Amino acid sequence: MRGGEPVVIEALKVRALPEGSCDRLLEFLRLYCDAVQMVVDRIWNLDTKLSWKKLHRLFYSELVRLGFRAHHAKEVYVYAKSLVDSARSNGGRKPVLRRLSARVDKYDYRLDLDSMVLTLKLHCGHEVRLRLVAPKERVEKFRGWSNYELAVKYEGGEFWVSVYFRRTIKPVKPRTVMAIDLNFDNVTIAVFALDGRLVKLKRFKTPHRKILTHKIWIERIQRRYPRSWRFIKGVRRAIERHGERMRNISWNYSHKIGDLIAESALKYQSVVVLEDLDELRENNKRGKRFNKKLGLWFYRRIQFCIEYEAKERNLEVVKINPKGTSSKCPRCGGKLVENKYRVLRCRKCNFIGDRDVIAALNLYRKYVSKRSRCGASGVALNAPKPDESPSGMQGNQDEAVTSSYINSYES
Ligand SMILES: [Zn+2]
Repeated sequence: MRGGEPVVIEALKVRALPEGSCDRLLEFLRLYCDAVQMVVDRIWNLDTKLSWKKLHRLFYSELVRLGFRAHHAKEVYVYAKSLVDSARSNGGRKPVLRRLSARVDKYDYRLDLDSMVLTLKLHCGHEVRLRLVAPKERVEKFRGWSNYELAVKYEGGEFWVSVYFRRTIKPVKPRTVMAIDLNFDNVTIAVFALDGRLVKLKRFKTPHRKILTHKIWIERIQRRYPRSWRFIKGVRRAIERHGERMRNISWNYSHKIGDLIAESALKYQSVVVLEDLDELRENNKRGKRFNKKLGLWFYRRIQFCIEYEAKERNLEVVKINPKGTSSKCPRCGGKLVENKYRVLRCRKCNFIGDRDVIAALNLYRKYVSKRSRCGASGVALNAPKPDESPSGMQGNQDEAVTSSYINSYES
């Protein structure tokens, strides 16, 4: 791998449906695993250090004779060697492959993200077309990334494909911090200079109420036809229409706001600080501010778009545990009580402030203290550790195929 700029690697794991019969693909996976095992068996007892050149000389032509393409052959012996190396370094026994899986180099597949069709080149000149099953928003993120390798797995009667995507990022050195607070009525952005001065404060309305209206309509219809709404065409259609409106409103809004906020963050060269919604579940108090009737999906969608657009502009995005951000005083840490509608007051020091601004201010504080604890900026936060490299020569490759390394992005 080239040094210098940080690289972000992420895997997209999706189910894949072969078009037509899946016999050929299964045949390929069996052949592939047998070949890996064969190489493992033969090099297990060799004492000499095996260079790539030597491996190539030992196995290449034999693998090609078995029907593999040039890059299949290379993947087979690279994979076999990494299995042997890691088994030896753990003092383990000779590896035995039990699962049907194969790594495929970019020269041996064609991936079309628009039609979600993957064409794999198999042994003996065969080809198979696979339809990838994934929601659009999960795939959307990887547009503009390059993909260089994938893993195909047969598991529980289904085929799974993990595509490894890579993107070089040139992070902008942050000059300000933009804290973003999401709540039912609005999205509040607060930009702070590095000395803590508030540079900009802006609020965007959310269409939450509109979305909620459609949801209430759906529930009303379902209550009116509790048993039959699924079966009466007109009723079902009405529900579908409301559902569609909800989806449209939320996606349109999220895209627009994501773009707007990221543009503004770019202008101020901000590091973008968001609340970590995953931390929210254990955190009921804060949860009150998010309307339970709607759930968190809409907030996640907005965050997804902000993060996506910000990263597109090479801005750093950080998520912070929002615990306490709306209940503690940003000046003294005391407990805040409601003074009047949307205005909070500190019992200890009498600090008074707007609820949303306080939340953003606290988010900024938390970010600063976290940052000063864990050091420098400019590191790709989700870049994998070196030993997690999926195609690398380090680490346990078998683990890389199956492990939790996969970063999924469900909304
Ligand atoms: Zn206070």
